[in-house]
Amino acid sequence: MQDCIFCKIVKKEIAAEVIFEDEQVLVFKDIKPVAPTHLLLIPKKHVPTLFDLDESDSGLIGHIHQVAIKVAQEMGLSNSGLRLVSNCGRDAGQMVYHLHYHLIAGRPLQWPPG
Ligand code: 5GP
Ligand code: ZN
Repeated sequence: MQDCIFCKIVKKEIAAEVIFEDEQVLVFKDIKPVAPTHLLLIPKKHVPTLFDLDESDSGLIGHIHQVAIKVAQEMGLSNSGLRLVSNCGRDAGQMVYHLHYHLIAGRPLQWPPG
């Protein structure tokens, strides 16, 4: 999508610190980290929010979770843990309307979130 900042990162029109990439998924560092580890996992195809997924995307979402686990294991987070979260829509404070999962780790995380 033309004006989508994450699509521009996928197309390498905007720089990002990429951690992992394959045909379907891109993982890069959040520009404003809220914890020592703060990654964004996105599908390469433009999907605005969780509500825009359909059954044909179940493999993609499963794959994103597998990539999250693989990256987290490689970063040594298996014992300490992490949070994998997707903000969806206004009430969750979604700012970028290209589906993304935050992988946040590296310090104790409060619950419930604000
Ligand atoms: P949301 O509130 O939509 O769930 O989170 C969007 C996230 O994208 C925020 O944590 C924000 O810091 C991050 N972000 C926004 N623009 C950019 C960018 O250009 N590059 C990177 N790496 N992260 C971005
Ligand atoms: Zn996009």
